[in-house]
Amino acid sequence: MLTIQHLKKRYKTGPWVLKDISFEVPDGEIVGLIGPSGAGKSTLIRCVNRLIDPSEGQITLDDVQLSHLSASKIREQRRHIGMIFQEYALVERLSVMENVLSGRLGYLPFWRTFLRKYPEQDINNAFEYLDRVGLIDHANKRADELSGGQRQRVGIARALAQDPHLLLVDEPTASLDPKNSRQIMRLIRSICREKSLSAIINIHDVPLAMQFVDRIIGLQGGAIVFDDKPENLTEDVLTRIYGDEDWTTVKQDEEELEDSEEIT
Ligand code: ADP
Repeated sequence: MLTIQHLKKRYKTGPWVLKDISFEVPDGEIVGLIGPSGAGKSTLIRCVNRLIDPSEGQITLDDVQLSHLSASKIREQRRHIGMIFQEYALVERLSVMENVLSGRLGYLPFWRTFLRKYPEQDINNAFEYLDRVGLIDHANKRADELSGGQRQRVGIARALAQDPHLLLVDEPTASLDPKNSRQIMRLIRSICREKSLSAIINIHDVPLAMQFVDRIIGLQGGAIVFDDKPENLTEDVLTRIYGDEDWTTVKQDEEELEDSEEIT
């Protein structure tokens, strides 16, 4: 369970970019974080994995207070948080397998990370994760030989290799076409279901979010203005989050997505 209580953030002496954010994410729940550019979505995600320090408030993951850890303890805790990035963040010249195994680096002693010498169990698990994301035949390819959708699958397998308690997913489909976007969201959702893993997904694509997440949190100006099931995200709410727009197109897109055949 992730618990965020009264989280506030300001960068140096600037304005508050997160204003008293509180919510809980139970195990297994997938939350889509939406909101206009500058609303504070990335700042919120970075506070959770402690890439930046919150100014005030508490963040707790499975009874461990992430918000008040020393630098050495942060590294230890961060391994429980799997990150999946928009631009995949793979090491291009390394093999797919080595990229997946790099998810284990936070668990290994320095000499092993230096020599990139992974325990056999880690290697066996990495094959399993590659199989799970449909890339078992690509294990020895260089990451830069893969398509965008395949790279994102490697990113997902790498996050799984961390044996995470929580997934933080930053714009996972921003560099992908619609078909690959749906496949990646479907894969993330089914993995979360299988492992009772919770996820916070920063996502611009509202129809895609509505189709694949359990709950949507809408941020506006650093505050939560919506926190509910996707089906309750009405045009009025979308206007409150994003400002005036013709939201009927969003609703149509969503219906089209629902009608489209399942692709696995
Ligand atoms: P979003 O992800 O929703 O686009 P961000 O969290 O990136 O929003 O940004 C929220 C606000 O914080 C913006 O006004 C942005 O300019 C500001 N901000 C983000 N990062 C920094 C930083 N490193 N230093 C100062 N201001 C920042």
